[in-house]
Formats: sequence, C-alpha cells, structure tokens
Amino acid sequence: MTTISTNLQAVRARIAAAAQLAGRAVEDILLLAVSKTFPPERIREAAQAGQFAFGENYLQESQGKIAALADLGLEWHFIGPLQSNKTRPVAEHFAWVHGVERLKIAERLAEARGAERPPLQVCIQVNVSGEASKSGVSPGETAALAQAVAALPNLQLRGLMAIPEPTDDMPLARQRFALLRELRDALNRSGMALDTLSMGMSHDLEAAILEGATIVRVGTAIFGERT
Ligand SMILES: *Cc1c(COP(=O)(O)O)cnc(C)c1O
Repeated sequence: MTTISTNLQAVRARIAAAAQLAGRAVEDILLLAVSKTFPPERIREAAQAGQFAFGENYLQESQGKIAALADLGLEWHFIGPLQSNKTRPVAEHFAWVHGVERLKIAERLAEARGAERPPLQVCIQVNVSGEASKSGVSPGETAALAQAVAALPNLQLRGLMAIPEPTDDMPLARQRFALLRELRDALNRSGMALDTLSMGMSHDLEAAILEGATIVRVGTAIFGERT
C-alpha cells in the first residue's frame, strides 16, 4: 500500500470518529484533498485510493494538473485567494470556488461561467478570527454579500467557508467554527437554503466536524508536508 492510500485511510478514520462523536452521518462530510504543490502523479495515487474531490490554491499550477488528470473525471475545487483577472479560467476549470469575499469577483465568475454549464458552486469566505486574519468578509458583512451572490445567475451559493488562525486551543477552535455555523443558520432562517460549511484542515478537522463542517479541506495529512 502507498503512503498516500495509508494516509487517506487514516484521515477517513479521523473523520468517521469525529462524526460519530458528533452524532452525525459520515456521508454528510466531504473530504476535499488539498493537492497544492504536489504533482499529478500523487493526485493520481490518491484517486486510485478512492479520492474524488481535490482542492487547488494556485491557478497556474492547477491548470496543468487538471489537464494531465482529465481522464479521471475528478472534481476540482478552487480554494485559494482569487484575483479578478483570474476569474475566467477558474470559472472554466473548476466545479467549486470556496473563497468568494467580494461581489465583484462573484459577478465576474457568473459571467465567465455562462448558462450552458452546470452552475459554479460557491462559498463565501468569512473571517471568524477577527483581527488575526485578513481574508474573508466580517461576520457582520456576510448576510449582505450572501444575498447579492445568491441573486447572480450561473452560480449556486452553497454556504460559508473559513480558515481560522491555527490554534491548539480546542475550545477556541470550536468557538470559531461555531460562529460560522451560526451565521449559516441565521441565513437559512432568513430564507436561504445553504447546506455547506467548508471548514477544518489537517490540524483541526475534528473541531470543525463537531461544529457541523460538511467539507473538510485536508492537505498535509494526506500528501505530507509541503516544501
Ligand atoms: C493549504 C490549504 C488547506 C490544507 O491545509 P493542511 O493544513 O495542509 O491540511 C486547506 N484549506 C486552504 C484554504 C488551504 O489553503
């Protein structure tokens, strides 16, 4: 067995244990394998071990990999920071975009996606760690951006995403993930139907699952340390 398939088994076991602790169905949690910096051969190995959804951060790097692996029919998620001059290729090559934090970007994605394809699945990135993080809208700005994005054609707003500052403080980690869940639940009470919480990475996926994560984005624990 390869290291990657062993690692994948270990990550799946962590997800299953956390789901059980949370009283949740494991099928409700998607494992997104974050393959940034790793070559197509490693991704192919993960795919052979049953992994279907992959996350990439850098457009330039990901385009070659997506082309090289086209035969596998994998699902690609763009999870990195997105500049407005990159929206067209991202809308063309990816099924999901996790980090929408400006309406302008969402509008450009909607236009580039076009109506011929299935809608691009998007999440709004929220800054749940306050001053410590620069990415994402503030919790107070989330509802307005969500309403505006939900009204755009060719996109389907699925939910919220966060990258909290790393911490070993489990209660603090849970508090930040809980904030994202509460924001999503408040949006749903106001009439939206958001099913996705994209939160939790290699070091904190348990805390995220306990607070309702439906997508965990895991890189290091599957592919090893990035250089
Ligand atoms: C790199 C990255 C991950 C994966 O982080 P690991 O700690 O390696 O699991 C998850 N989400 C985002 C947005 C990332 O940039």
